[in-house]
Order: sequence, then C-alpha cells, then structure tokens
Amino acid sequence: MEPTDHSDTTPDRVSHLLEFLRRYSRQRLDSRRMDERRAFPTSLIPDLAAHGLFGLQIAEEHGGLGLSHSDFLRVITQLGAIDANLFVLLGVHNTLGVPPVAHYAAEHVKSAVLPDVAQGRALITSAISEPGAGSNVRAVQARAERWPDGSYVINGSKQWISLGADATYVNVFARLSDEYGRDLGITGFLVDTSTPGFVGGPEVLTLGLKAVPQNSLEFQSLRVPGDALLGGEGAGLLAAKEAFMRGRVTLAAGGLGAMMRSLELAERFARRRQVATGNLAENGRIHQLFAESVAATQAVEALVRYIGARMDSGEHVPEELFFAAKITGCELMWQVVDRSVQLLGARGYVDTNVLGQFFRDYRLLRIFEGSTEAITVYLGSRMLAAPQRVLSLLDEFDVAPHLQELAAGVAKLASAKTANVQSQHVLANVVGELTCWTIMAGLTAQSQHRSEMAQYTAAWCEQQLSERLRTAEQGTPFVELPTVDAIARHIGGYDDTIGDVEQRRPGDQNDLDLLLRRH
Ligand SMILES: Cc1cc2nc3c(=O)[nH]c(=O)nc-3n(C[C@H](O)[C@H](O)[C@H](O)COP(=O)(O)OP(=O)(O)OC[C@H]3O[C@@H](n4cnc5c(N)ncnc54)[C@H](O)[C@@H]3O)c2cc1C
Repeated sequence: MEPTDHSDTTPDRVSHLLEFLRRYSRQRLDSRRMDERRAFPTSLIPDLAAHGLFGLQIAEEHGGLGLSHSDFLRVITQLGAIDANLFVLLGVHNTLGVPPVAHYAAEHVKSAVLPDVAQGRALITSAISEPGAGSNVRAVQARAERWPDGSYVINGSKQWISLGADATYVNVFARLSDEYGRDLGITGFLVDTSTPGFVGGPEVLTLGLKAVPQNSLEFQSLRVPGDALLGGEGAGLLAAKEAFMRGRVTLAAGGLGAMMRSLELAERFARRRQVATGNLAENGRIHQLFAESVAATQAVEALVRYIGARMDSGEHVPEELFFAAKITGCELMWQVVDRSVQLLGARGYVDTNVLGQFFRDYRLLRIFEGSTEAITVYLGSRMLAAPQRVLSLLDEFDVAPHLQELAAGVAKLASAKTANVQSQHVLANVVGELTCWTIMAGLTAQSQHRSEMAQYTAAWCEQQLSERLRTAEQGTPFVELPTVDAIARHIGGYDDTIGDVEQRRPGDQNDLDLLLRRH
C-alpha cells in the first residue's frame, strides 16, 4: 500500500468536502484568534453543519453523510492539518458522541436524536472521566439507580468533558444498581442536558485547544427514562470501548494531518534558510531528521489507511492495531511537531508561526483517550498473557523471515518471568512498545517496493523494532531502580534548594456580587 495516492479511492463527495475545508481554512478561519478568544466564531458551527460535518458517519436516513471509515479518516486528517480545535470539536462529536447512540440506542431514540446531531443543531459528547477515574475507566463513581417505574436516577460528577456544557446530549457512563442496591455494572445513558439535575460546571483553562471547552459536570438526582439506555444494563463499557477504539485511530488520523502540515512548513523554511554549513535542508544532520520524520509520517499514514480499509471491508480489525495507532501515531506525531518547532529555530517559538500553537494544541493527544503509558502497559500485559499473539499479528501481513524472527524475539521477551509487580509493569511497557513496532514494521514492509521513500520507511520501522528489541534483550530497561520511597525522599529534599514558591495571591473575582444575586 503506497500511502499517498488517494486519487483512485476518492468519491466526489469527499473530494468536495476536503476542498470546502481547504477553502474555509484559507478564507474564513483564524486559529490564532480562536486561541486568544478561547472560542469558535459564531459562524463556524452553522458553516460546518451546512456541509454535513457533524454527521460524517451517521446514516443518510438520519440526515448524515454515511461516510465510509476510510473517507471519514481522510476528512479527519484534513481537519488535523488545518486546526486542532476544529479536529477535536468534530472528532469528539463524531467519534465519542455519535457511535454510542448510533450503535447502542433504541431505534426510536436514534430517529429522534440523530437528525439534529447530524445537522449540527445539537452537539453530543461522552462523559466517562471523573476526578478519581481517568485512565482507569472501571473506577467510575457516578451512580445510577433503577427505579420501579423503569426510569433511572443519576448522581455524581464528571471531569474534563469536551463540549460538556455546550452539548445538547451527553452519553453518561455511571455505575448502575437495581432497586435492591445490587451492582449491575457500568452502564451508558443518553442524557438530554436540559433535564433538571444536569449542571454544567466551569470551563478549565487548558494549555491548548482553547476554543474547545472542557467542563466538569454534576448530576443531581437526574432522572432519565428507561429508553435512555445505551446498550443493556451493565453493558456501558462495550459502548464506551467501541467509541474509544474509533477514537484511537481518529486521533492518529488527526495527528497525521498535523505531522504533514508541520513538515510542510519546516521543509519550506529549511530550503530557504542558509546556515554556517550552507543550505539548511542540505545539512547532513537536518537531512537525516527530515528523512526520519517523513518515514514516521508515512508509517502512521499506512496504519491509519490500513485500519480504515479493514473496517470498510467488514473484516475484524485486531484491537492491537487500534492501540498501535494511538500509541505510535500520537508519539510520532509529537516527535515530528517538536522537531519541526526545533527546525524552525526562533521562528518555531513564535506563536504566530502555526507550529507554536500546534505544540500546545497537539500535546493533548498523548494524554486523552488512553494515555500512552497506561495503554502501552495494558497492551504489553495482554501480550505477556499470550506471548504467541505477537507472532500471529504478523499473519496480517506478508513479511520476510527476518521480521518473523524479530517478532519471535518479542514473543520470547514476553514470556520472561519477572521478580515483582513493578518489573512486570516495566516489562509490559517494553513489550507493548515492541508490539506496536512489530505492527509498524510488518505493515510498512508490505509496500517497501513502491518508492524510494517507502523503502526507507520500511527500513526505518524495522530499525526501530530491532534496536528496541536489542536494548530490551540486553536488559537495559530492567536495571534495578531506587525504591519509590527513596525517590520521594530525594525529591522532598529539593525543598531545601527551591523552598515554598506556591503562589497564593487571590485570582480574578468572577462571581456575581452576593448582593446582586437572585437568591
Ligand atoms: C483537553 C481534554 C479533553 C478531554 N475530553 C474528555 C471527554 O470528552 N470525555 C471524557 O470522558 N474524558 C475526557 N478527558 C479526560 C481524559 O481522557 C483523561 O484525562 C485521560 O484518560 C487521563 O486520565 P487522568 O487525567 O485521570 O490521568 P491518570 O489516569 O491519573 O494518569 C496520570 C499518569 O499516570 C499514567 N498512568 C495511568 N495509568 C497507568 C498505568 N496503568 N500504567 C502506567 N501508567 C499509568 C498516565 O499515563 C499519566 O501519565 C479529557 C482530558 C483533557 C485534558
């Protein structure tokens, strides 16, 4: 698969959509202003809605565009290249918000809700995270109680919910108990945010993505009807997991757009810039950095396109591929954005040169929808439980024997015994990373004959795999560490050097004066 030529697979509708987005970016968008004002311009949502962008994969019978997965991911990559706020707004709505309803709500609920959602008249998001439950979604504390009349009453709070206070609908995931207090498990509910008891909390001031509001939410005896269920009682994690899996490849696809745009700017600069050794792009070290960054971009593109095509074919897509997309896609995206900032020198540090804002906005991708460490350890733990699985992942691709040998090395490492739980986590992390690189190497090897760049990309991915494997086999990640207490004591000692510098000066007064309030 040569991951740059889209011409043969481009239905007209998607071409028009991409052309609209490019034109819109050139003529109407001002990312810097959205960033400064922490808001989208008022015309943005109706403009995007008029082109169907809020119903990208909603069925046409419900007013959506019904795009294939491949086409959806192409739109997301385009958005990622334009502006992270746009990408996250539409990514959250279309992948976290829509699928739990489109795939798990009752038919009459879909018919009532999806047309407004598809037309952008109603925004939708999902609320899973809580103050005590982030990476570990099973720790959710929000409670739902089933009442004898078949309705449910929800109490609890959520945190970091994108579009939380602006959405018309929120998919709320809460721990359900029946009339007798028996725990039925985590359950999803479609909540209309105009329901009494739904309280939108304050917006948090994030590092980037400032136009997309992130709110805390409170549910105070919020009653929803029986047909608000998303899937069955206790089946909430199924709906959430599906949204997360889609979200993972969506993040890789959006990040891919950021990689391409970053390299476009960095390369333009390097070709025009003279340094002590002559032209910057011709400098050997810089040339190498570009080659590696383009290889990373091509590898992520190959994986995103592969997953999209597999989903469209209706074939089962191994979960490991989604994890690889999230982990490797977002980590490589971050390397490329950071490198591009660096390549621009001082110009990279100037906020108006696009990449400064990318640097803040795209940092999120390594954290949300499964932070890198949490899901790498999780993926690795699964491989430790079934080491041969690494080898069978290569069955997906037609690869040479030496790659099979590398994968066998990963499987062998995954069979290693560890001394304690902590070394188990370290091993799981190493194996998780190696699993991702096994997939990347296997996938890119398939298309290495297509071009000089594809050949380099395949060799680069294989090198990432073999070097990491060699380091792991030599035991480097497993050196004995100081204890957790020793590290904490050492850090505690920094206080002697830097002292108490916590700023306690009161901030701005934002609340309405007590004497002016209604109650
Ligand atoms: C801008 C933004 C938008 C968001 N939007 C939404 C949204 O719309 N809906 C929603 O439900 N949530 C949303 N979130 C929440 C997001 O998904 C969580 O922040 C994320 O899952 C991480 O959880 P946490 O912040 O509690 O970190 P924690 O889980 O406390 O993690 C802290 C650190 O520990 C590491 N860690 C955690 N578990 C492990 C492990 N098992 N092994 C090794 N390391 C581990 C993590 O990698 C991280 O470095 C959003 C967050 C942000 C910042």
